[in-house]
Amino acid sequence: MRNKEELLFLGTGHATVTECYNTSFILRSSDDILLVDGGGGNGILRQMKQAEVSVSDLSGIFVTHAHTDHILGVVWVLRIIGEEVGQGTYSGNCKVCGVSLVLDSLKCLCRHTMSPAVWRNVEHAVGFVEADDAQGIRIGQNMEIRPFEVSCNPVVQFGFKAFLQSGKTVACLGDVPCPEHLFSRLMGMDWLLCEAFCLDRDKEIFKPYAIGHETVLDAARTARRLNVKNLVLYHTEDAMLHKRKKEYTEEAGKEFQGNVYVPDDLEKITLI
Ligand SMILES: [Zn+2]
Repeated sequence: MRNKEELLFLGTGHATVTECYNTSFILRSSDDILLVDGGGGNGILRQMKQAEVSVSDLSGIFVTHAHTDHILGVVWVLRIIGEEVGQGTYSGNCKVCGVSLVLDSLKCLCRHTMSPAVWRNVEHAVGFVEADDAQGIRIGQNMEIRPFEVSCNPVVQFGFKAFLQSGKTVACLGDVPCPEHLFSRLMGMDWLLCEAFCLDRDKEIFKPYAIGHETVLDAARTARRLNVKNLVLYHTEDAMLHKRKKEYTEEAGKEFQGNVYVPDDLEKITLI
């Protein structure tokens, strides 16, 4: 397990997909394991089980924003932590990071949907850390994330830059296009994780711009402008999953000459 650095995708779809799980992934650097978003529900538990990741393995959870398809799965992860604390089987040390709206929403959901004893266990076992633009957050022993705001409309949303033990850098943009003001801060990253709602040629079918998303071609243009080495595309439609990897990779290659990854659910990407 030493020096293993990888992305493990628990889900890759947008909010209302039915053929795959919503966007949720794990960023791992040795034993430092960060869960980013939880998808929209109890399905996170199945995905984690299949990926052989337990709640005790998690060093941190970063929630980009308080939309259903990102936050509700985290409620389930916290519930399992609370139950395992009660059973004496939880051995983790996890902090939950997000902006105040995210943390307030999570606490409210947990308080109203868990038994008081389980919620008390969660509060006892888990640290809640408010993310802001000003300071980095340590995840586990050797990972640091530096959050930044990517959007404030219709809901405040944060992404982050992660600095791994090996020195590699990973940027996550949540589920919105990269705003202009962030370009100078994200230039030359090793890895960029970017939403791509659909192929550019299908934009009249899926209408990504009407709901604050962008196309594969748009994301590839961003990756080229940022001069990143590797681009990962996620948060997609699910109408063409069987050919998504091939067709998205081909379209992205028209604008971006670096490596393009279009993971399936439960796919691991080794960080090179
Ligand atoms: Zn979303």
